[in-house]
Amino acid sequence: MQAFQYQRASEVEGAISAASAAGVKFVAGGTTLIDLMKLNVERPATLLDINLLPLTKIERTPDGGLRIGAMVRNSDLAHDSSVQRDYPVLSQALLSGASPQIRNMATTGGNLLQRTRCVYFRDTAYACNKRDPGSGCAAMDGWNRMHAVLGTSEHCIATHPSDMAVAMMALEAVVHIRGPKGDRAVPLDEFYFVPGSTPQRENVLTPGELIVFVTLPPLASGTRSYYLKRRDRASYEFALASAAVVAQTSGSRVQRVRIALGGVGTKPWRSREAEHALEGREATDSNFHTAADAALRGARPLHDNAFKIELAKRTLVRALRVATAAA
Ligand SMILES: Cc1cc2nc3c(=O)[nH]c(=O)nc-3n(C[C@H](O)[C@H](O)[C@H](O)COP(=O)(O)OP(=O)(O)OC[C@H]3O[C@@H](n4cnc5c(N)ncnc54)[C@H](O)[C@@H]3O)c2cc1C
Ligand code: SF4
Repeated sequence: MQAFQYQRASEVEGAISAASAAGVKFVAGGTTLIDLMKLNVERPATLLDINLLPLTKIERTPDGGLRIGAMVRNSDLAHDSSVQRDYPVLSQALLSGASPQIRNMATTGGNLLQRTRCVYFRDTAYACNKRDPGSGCAAMDGWNRMHAVLGTSEHCIATHPSDMAVAMMALEAVVHIRGPKGDRAVPLDEFYFVPGSTPQRENVLTPGELIVFVTLPPLASGTRSYYLKRRDRASYEFALASAAVVAQTSGSRVQRVRIALGGVGTKPWRSREAEHALEGREATDSNFHTAADAALRGARPLHDNAFKIELAKRTLVRALRVATAAA
């Protein structure tokens, strides 16, 4: 690990102003960043500790939604009574991730910004366009069983690893950002970039910008939600495929549904194709399969990861069954 300076911020404006200098990185729980610094993948000149910032509250918004501070720990969010009652998909996604110890440290902002687990990104001996733009992509001809099938490019096929972000995508979360030029609010669906020819650019944040909180809109009464994750072992493992479903039904008809997939996309993958295929239709297995086919229609597999297409379809069908089953 290269030498770095350490600073601590206790108020938001000070953090933003300090982070506008070159080479400064915020550190929250540190469960992604410190690992990557030890591997020499991230090499900030200065670590700016934001653990004292007053961004730790989970509050109701005036419209009945939820406002989640960027420093709310994943454990606290998963066990919050409003989240468990009104947004169970979020609690389920959080509890399916990492381990209790990591969730006690990991924060809402840091979880959204965690980097890919691509083994070639994490090992500086290999070519990686995301870590070293223009150097190539060792995963293309390497071991790519864990890699993405949706949103890929010839420059990068890395999967976005977050479970929480997949649930937030289906909940139509909005990311609230404060930076040197002021405040802005970005729907999560517009927050991440697909890799294209610039895989090193992962999201809309610019230098000095801090995520201050995330909001979730209120859900109509009777809305049900569910998160299902498929992985190689039952805990402490990233998704091979996952599905988040937020559904409102009327009788046996799906009135409104929001669908996102994890483990298969270069970003947490909202599938409007699947939503359109299902809205207004009967909640039947046949329609669920049609929606799942629509979600994976654009998939581009490589030699080790074609199995993810069928796995993701089955995961989504199962999640749809649960989220639309009569209460
Ligand atoms: C062994 C292991 C297993 C894991 N398994 C899973 C899993 O199954 N599912 C899953 O979803 N995740 C998993 N994770 C990842 C874990 O969820 C993330 O490491 C964690 O959520 C990151 O949060 P943090 O607060 O520690 O981020 P940090 O490491 O502190 O920061 C991550 C990045 O976010 C930036 N950042 C942090 N907060 C802000 C902010 N407010 N504004 C702007 N930038 C900010 C930092 O500068 C850094 O670039 C695992 C991690 C480990 C180590
Ligand atoms: S898939 Fe992306 S992150 Fe992995 S080696 Fe290729 S360019 Fe790097």
